[in-house]
Amino acid sequence: MTDFAARRADMVERQLRARGIEDERVLAAMGEVPREAFVPERLQRRAYADSALPIGAEQTISQPWVVAAICQALALRGDERVLEVGTGSGYSAAVLARLAAEVIGIERHESLARGAAAALAGVGVDNVRLLVGDGSRGYPERAPYGAIAVHASAPAPPPALIAQLAEGGRLVVPIAAAAGDDLTLLRRYGDRVESEVIAPCRFVPLIGEEGF
Ligand code: SAM
Repeated sequence: MTDFAARRADMVERQLRARGIEDERVLAAMGEVPREAFVPERLQRRAYADSALPIGAEQTISQPWVVAAICQALALRGDERVLEVGTGSGYSAAVLARLAAEVIGIERHESLARGAAAALAGVGVDNVRLLVGDGSRGYPERAPYGAIAVHASAPAPPPALIAQLAEGGRLVVPIAAAAGDDLTLLRRYGDRVESEVIAPCRFVPLIGEEGF
């Protein structure tokens, strides 16, 4: 029998803490969410691999460090409403659900959204609402958001998402660059937007009106 709890604890120490993730809330959340529940059954033994894994529809569940880096950059305190674009397997939504009050996830593939909803229910997460559609336009109906996480690479920071940020809100989005993508943090203060590259990374493209 696979000892998933031991692998998860090992992932937190070796892949996350040892590589610069220091937000204890993020480390605790990733030490609790059972990643094996969000990967296809045939790949469960590799659930804690230091890599992305296929989840169907030619998409992937992101590498654990990438999920942690995004969550850390969002600096969540626990009372925020978070918009997640590109929910995929539902794993990152489950982590965000432990860090914030409420998560609205948008996934463009209906089959993945269905799987994510089942996996989230299976592990008892009840503060994530899943929508199917183009998340590059955001979801103005529930704006403003204290934080927005985008898990697919955009040609530029989507203006619709910036407009849906609360004052002081944070948006993390991979931006396509000449060699790979730049995981980028944007902060909105009134009409001013501050931007900072967190790390180089590689994501699937954001497909949609404000994507590719
Ligand atoms: N965070 C996810 C997880 O934990 O499994 C992995 C996300 S995967 C790297 C990126 C996802 O973004 C894919 O599932 C893809 O279908 C989705 N995607 C791409 N463009 C999108 C868009 N415009 N709106 C919503 N989802 C989109």
